[in-house]
Amino acid sequence: MKNIFIGTLFLCLIGSVYAAQGGLMLGPNSLMPSGGILKNSEGVLKNIEVLSSDFSTQAIFFFSGACTPKKKDLTSDSRLCIFFPTLKLGNINQQDILKKLNKFNLIERFKFENVGSPKGVLLDIKFSEGAFVKLLHMEGKNKFIMEIYSKNELAKIDRSTGLPLYFAYNDLKKKRDAKLRVMIDPGHGGKALGTQGLYNLIEKDVNLDISKKVRFLLEKLGYEVALTRTRDEDISLVERSRKAEVFKANLFISIHANSSGGSDKAHGIETFHFNVKPFLGFLSDGAAVSYELLFIRNSEDHRLASVANNLVRSSESSSHKFADSIQNTLVDMLKKKNVAVINRGTKNACFLVLLCFLNKKIPSALVETGFITNKEEAKRLTDNNYRMLIAQGISKGVWNFASLFREV
Ligand SMILES: [Zn+2]
Repeated sequence: MKNIFIGTLFLCLIGSVYAAQGGLMLGPNSLMPSGGILKNSEGVLKNIEVLSSDFSTQAIFFFSGACTPKKKDLTSDSRLCIFFPTLKLGNINQQDILKKLNKFNLIERFKFENVGSPKGVLLDIKFSEGAFVKLLHMEGKNKFIMEIYSKNELAKIDRSTGLPLYFAYNDLKKKRDAKLRVMIDPGHGGKALGTQGLYNLIEKDVNLDISKKVRFLLEKLGYEVALTRTRDEDISLVERSRKAEVFKANLFISIHANSSGGSDKAHGIETFHFNVKPFLGFLSDGAAVSYELLFIRNSEDHRLASVANNLVRSSESSSHKFADSIQNTLVDMLKKKNVAVINRGTKNACFLVLLCFLNKKIPSALVETGFITNKEEAKRLTDNNYRMLIAQGISKGVWNFASLFREV
């Protein structure tokens, strides 16, 4: 995964260049892109993935082609209409989506169809009184996310624990005598190669090898461990998080190797965690995110919205601590072995694989084990012993994080 830290202003610039990409190659008087590019903008709404938590369901819309979904303003206060301009509906099983999305029986009517003039796809949903809905648009990412929160379930959480700032911690504390379950996610796989580095290194292979070593070490420590993939195969980001859920993971680590996009100078180790702020800010690759919360009408709703926000914040803060533990332990271990390594620190980012854990009690982090585009670091990463050392650092980072709960 490509992760260079750039300031927000620069991210804005990249964002606008990204948005203008289609037009950049054109002559000065041409308003429309050339034939080939125009075709690409007539995209398809390819897929909708549904995830759920104890108190919400989340639909992630994946589409090809440029599209900025628009919410239609309606007079009815529990109906939501979203228009996806220029898109066509792909092969989507609406009944199946509705069934998963309606876990809390908050949807009264659901209609999803192709419309003409203007051409696009229209999503029309009528919710019951007990719902509020969050909309997230990731510009340039070809993704749109709708989260449906159950006010009832949020009220139960509110009554049982007050404002649950340490939601994820509480869950881990309960587990302290049992075996912790760790899901390791080797980044990319199959057709998704990840970065192609020096010394014929391909990221997906490096990730898988280090992940297997981490599994071996964590099992020796007594953890229950699973991998999202154990061989070279394609697997979607949502599927990775779903596997963690099925495995009933307590912790999730995605393992990657870094690239510096052109320059071979960048090197070092960095670890990412998902931050709630990117809702209102910027994605790591420069695409903007807009965010909206709907159907909040009274003070009770505001209260429940703050419960929802605190749950997300709690999940975010435990993920932040988890990422810190991996990053610091790994870098310390390498330094002790006299490996000259740069500590690039812990950072927040809006990677989809981490976003999927937003409403879950699973601290999650994404570690970049080094730049395979940098000569020295790539050379080290060809060495089996060095990969084992990286795996030891990550495993000890997990152990250190878990020890926060063991002594309580
Ligand atoms: Zn990667």
